[in-house]
Amino acid sequence: MAARVLLVEDEPSIAEIVEFALASEGFGVTWRTLARDAEAVLSADAHDLLILDIGLPDGSGLELLKRIRRDSDMPVLILSARNAELDRVLGLELGADDYVGKPFSPRELAARVKAILKRSARTRAIAAESAASEPADSSGFEVDEMRATIRFRNRPLDLTRYEYLILKTLLNQPERVFSRAQLMDRVWPDPAASFERSVDTHIKTLRAKLREIEPRFDPIRTHRGLGYSIRVMDQS
Ligand code: CA
Repeated sequence: MAARVLLVEDEPSIAEIVEFALASEGFGVTWRTLARDAEAVLSADAHDLLILDIGLPDGSGLELLKRIRRDSDMPVLILSARNAELDRVLGLELGADDYVGKPFSPRELAARVKAILKRSARTRAIAAESAASEPADSSGFEVDEMRATIRFRNRPLDLTRYEYLILKTLLNQPERVFSRAQLMDRVWPDPAASFERSVDTHIKTLRAKLREIEPRFDPIRTHRGLGYSIRVMDQS
């Protein structure tokens, strides 16, 4: 089935270019000009990817992205005239998958959309496979609190400070679901100054590091709208 893209863009001339570029690649495109209309579309109907303008008549696309990321992993590409580094960094930090600045090449945009969809299909396939195969477990982890390191299957994980603290917190209470806010309270020195979305970003990089050691291994479970937990296998 053709992938369905939701485009949120208030500039008709730009929307037309995007629609044309994507339609000629076989994508189905839904176009909305307002953030609130886009949210209504998404809650009514699943789409495979969101292309999001930052400057919208009823608010910032980044705010919309933040709301979407509370319970959705859907791929998001930011399309914005505000090609400032800060927007780019903030957009990616908030969980966008890619960023294209205006003016842009329609063909490049279509190619990036295809690349994101390919990546997300691969991630979903790996997740489905690992869910279907042996139950994932958190045995095989060794936390060394003295050295602030974690080994997995006898190999040291190269973790950032936040990744280390998140993984340690999850491993301390296997199967317990931690909300993003709870993880931030335990891990961030100043939780109020950070976005809850940062948790998702670090979880994403953590998963990638675990997959480097064991490609089908994903013991971290996402509980939609709730948070994260880590699974253990019954060791008895
Ligand atoms: Ca705009």
